[in-house]
Amino acid sequence: MAAEVTKTKPILEVLDDEPPLTPDLVQLAGWLSERYLCTTAAAVQALLPSGMRAKASTTLRLADELPFVQPGSLEADLLQALYESPNKTKEQLIAERPEWRPILRAWVAAGILIESYRIKQGAQVKTITCLRCTLDATRFPAALEALGRAKKQKEVLAFLFDRDDAVPMKDVLSELSASSSTLKPLLEKGYIQKEEQEVLRDPYGIVHGQKEQPLPLTELQRAAYDQIAAAVDSRKPETFLLQGVTGSGKTEVYLQAIASCVAQGRQAIMLVPEISLTPQMVERFKKRFGDDVAVMHSRLSAGEKFDEWRRIRQGDVTIVVGARSAIFAPFHSIGLMIVDEEHEVSYKQDDHPKYLAREVAMYRARQHGATVVLGSATPALETRWWAHQGQIRRIEMSERVMGQRLPKVKVIDMRNELQEGNRSMFSTVLQKEMEKRLETGEQIILFLNRRGFATFVLCRSCGYVARCPECEIPLTFHKARGLEQLRCHYCGYAERMPNICPDCQGDHVRHFGTGTQRVEEELNRVFPEANVIRMDVDTTSGKGSHAVLLQRFRNQEAQILLGTQMIAKGLDFPNVTLVGVISADTSLFVPDFRAAERTFQLLTQVAGRAGRHQLPGEVVIQSYNPQHYAVQFAKKQEYENFFQHEIRVRHAVHNPPFRELTAFTSVNVNETEALRIARTVEDRLRILFQGRDDVIILGTSPAPLSRLQGKFRFNVVVKYVRFKQVGASIRTVYLEAAQEAQKAGGYLSIDVNAQ
Ligand code: ADP
Ligand code: ZN
Repeated sequence: MAAEVTKTKPILEVLDDEPPLTPDLVQLAGWLSERYLCTTAAAVQALLPSGMRAKASTTLRLADELPFVQPGSLEADLLQALYESPNKTKEQLIAERPEWRPILRAWVAAGILIESYRIKQGAQVKTITCLRCTLDATRFPAALEALGRAKKQKEVLAFLFDRDDAVPMKDVLSELSASSSTLKPLLEKGYIQKEEQEVLRDPYGIVHGQKEQPLPLTELQRAAYDQIAAAVDSRKPETFLLQGVTGSGKTEVYLQAIASCVAQGRQAIMLVPEISLTPQMVERFKKRFGDDVAVMHSRLSAGEKFDEWRRIRQGDVTIVVGARSAIFAPFHSIGLMIVDEEHEVSYKQDDHPKYLAREVAMYRARQHGATVVLGSATPALETRWWAHQGQIRRIEMSERVMGQRLPKVKVIDMRNELQEGNRSMFSTVLQKEMEKRLETGEQIILFLNRRGFATFVLCRSCGYVARCPECEIPLTFHKARGLEQLRCHYCGYAERMPNICPDCQGDHVRHFGTGTQRVEEELNRVFPEANVIRMDVDTTSGKGSHAVLLQRFRNQEAQILLGTQMIAKGLDFPNVTLVGVISADTSLFVPDFRAAERTFQLLTQVAGRAGRHQLPGEVVIQSYNPQHYAVQFAKKQEYENFFQHEIRVRHAVHNPPFRELTAFTSVNVNETEALRIARTVEDRLRILFQGRDDVIILGTSPAPLSRLQGKFRFNVVVKYVRFKQVGASIRTVYLEAAQEAQKAGGYLSIDVNAQ
C-alpha cells in the first residue's frame, strides 16, 4: 500500500515530541482500511480522539512577480481578493469561488503564489495560571522587610515561599482571601512570578475514600475467572464468550480479571454500550481501581476526550472504561479486552471506517497476545455460533448470584383486550400489577420499544399521513410547553400540528401510535397520584441529564420509570419488582433479517431488570403476536432454544453467521443517477463473481430509508463466505463506482460486515 511519495510540503513546526500513534496502532490503521474498505486517512482519524484530529489549511502568499490579468476577468477578481484579505486560506478562497481552483493551481505551479501548509490541532491543552516565589532564603527576609506594613502582601509572599511547587493563583487568592491587587506589587518587584501549568480535565472527578474490596466469588464466577485469568497469563491471543444470565455476576468477574491483568503490569480495556455508560458503571470501576481508570465516551467534550487520551498514552492509567472507540486506546501492552453486552448494535460504527468493535478487539488481541472476553446474556448469533464451532471458548453462568429466581414473565394477548372492550394501552393484567406496586411502594419500569413506532399523524376521514417533505418518513408528534409540533426524526424538519387535513380539508386529524409522551399522559390519567420519570431522546439531550433522571429514580423520587431502549440494560435498581413492556411487536416487523434476534434480546434484557435483589420480580409483556417464537422464547428466557431455532432460519436463507453481508449504498439528489450507480455496482459484481456459488448478489433495491434529507438511496447487498476471498474484488468495484458516483454529484458508501 506504500505509494511512492513525490509531492511533499515543508514542515513548519513539530507539534508532538512523541508520535501520537505507536507502531502497532499504525499497523491497526492499515488493517482497518483493508477490512472496512476505507482510506488510510479515515482509519488513522478513527484512532485519535476527536479533540486531536488535525485541521489542515493552506496559506498563500503572492510572490514578487505579479501575473498579468485582464481587467474584469476571474483572474483579476482573484488577485484583488488576495490583496484585500491576505490571510484567507486556499480552502476559504475555493469555498468562496470554486472557479478559482484551476487558476490557483496554475499560479502555484508558475511560482506566482507560494503555498505553505499548516496543521492546527483541534483541542488545546488546558492551562491554569500558577504563582511561584522566586526568592532564596537570604533574599526572602530582606524582601519581607522591604514590604514594611503591607501585611497582605507579606502573607502571600510567605505562603508561596513555603511551597516548593507553583500554586494555582485561584487557590492562593481564596485561601488567603487576597485580591489580585495584592499580587501586583509582588509581581512588579519580581518577588513572585506567574507561570502557566498544564492541567488535565477529569470529567468524573476523583473518588475519595477507601477502595472497595473484591467480593468473594461464587463457584460459577470462580470457574469463569480461573479460565480467563489463565488465558491472560498465557499471553496467547484467545477469545471467550462469557454467556451469563442477567444478574449472574459477570461484572464482578470482569473486575477481578482486570485486577489480575493489571497486577502483571499489563493494561485492560472495558467496553460498554454507550447507553449503559452510566455514572453507576464508572463509579464501580473508580471505587475498585481509583485513579487508575480513564473514561472515554461520546458525551465528553473534545477537550476532556483529548486529556483522557493523553493520560492513557502517557501511561498514567492502566484501565480504560469506554464506549466503542475506547477499543483504540493507545496502550503499549494490552492483556485483556472485555466487550460487555457484546451483541449491542452500538458496537458497530456507522461512519467510515464502519468497524465492529469486537472484530477490532480480536485483531488487537493477536497483536498484543491478549485475551478477549465477549460478555452477554443474549450473545449475537454469530458469536454463539463461533463458540459452537469451537473458534472461541464458551463459559456459561446460568444462575443468578444470590440464587434469585429469574422473574416470572406473562405474555398478554392484546387482541383479546380489544375484544373485551379495553381500549387503553395497558392490559387489565398490567394495570392490576401496577396498582399493587403503587400500594406497596415498590417501583415499576415501563418499557416502550420505539423502533419504527413513533407517534404518527393520520386523518381519520381520508387516511392522509403527515410525512417529511424531504425524507418521506412519517412525521412524529411532539408536545412541549403546550406547543404541538410534528418533527422528522431523521433530518430534524419541524412544522406545526395541522388542525385541518391538508388533503380533504376535514378536521379529523389525530395522532396515533404510542410515543413515550402518550404513555405518560395515559399514566397521569389512570394513576394521577403516581410520580413518573420519562426517559427518551427528548428528556435526555442535555449533558448529564441522563444521570440525573436515573439518580432521581434510584432515590425513589418517582415510582414509575418510563422509557425507550435506553433503559433496557445495564441498570440495576433494587426496588424494581415489575417491568411492563407496552408492545413487544414493534421491532418484529422491520425489514431486517435480525428482527427476531433483536426482539428476543431486547425482551430478555428488559425482563432482566426486574427482581435483581431480595424482592422477586414480575414481567408483563403485551403483544399482538404473542405466538411468535422470539416472544415465546423470551418469555421463558431460553436463549439456547432461541439460538437453535434462529440458526436454522439463518441457514435456510444464507444469512449470517453462514454468510457475511456487505452493503453498498448509492446516494444522490437525482433518483435516476442514484439508481444508475447502484445498477453499475450490481452488474460489475455479477460479472466478477460469475460462477462462484459462495457469493450471492441481491438485486438493487431502495434502501430501508429510501429517501433521506432530500436524497435518494439505493442498496446493493453482496453475501459471501469469507471476506479474504472476495475483499480485493469488492474493493475494486467500490473504488471505481465511488468515483463515478462522485462525478454524478452523489456518493457511494460501503458497509463491510453490515449489521
Ligand atoms: P451481571 O453483570 O451478570 O448482570 P452483576 O455483575 O451486575 O451481574 O451482578 C448482579 C448483582 O450481584 C450485583 O448487585 C452484584 O453486586 C452482586 N454480586 C456479584 N457477584 C457477587 C458475589 N460474588 N457475591 C455477592 N454479590 C455479588
Ligand atoms: Zn426529514
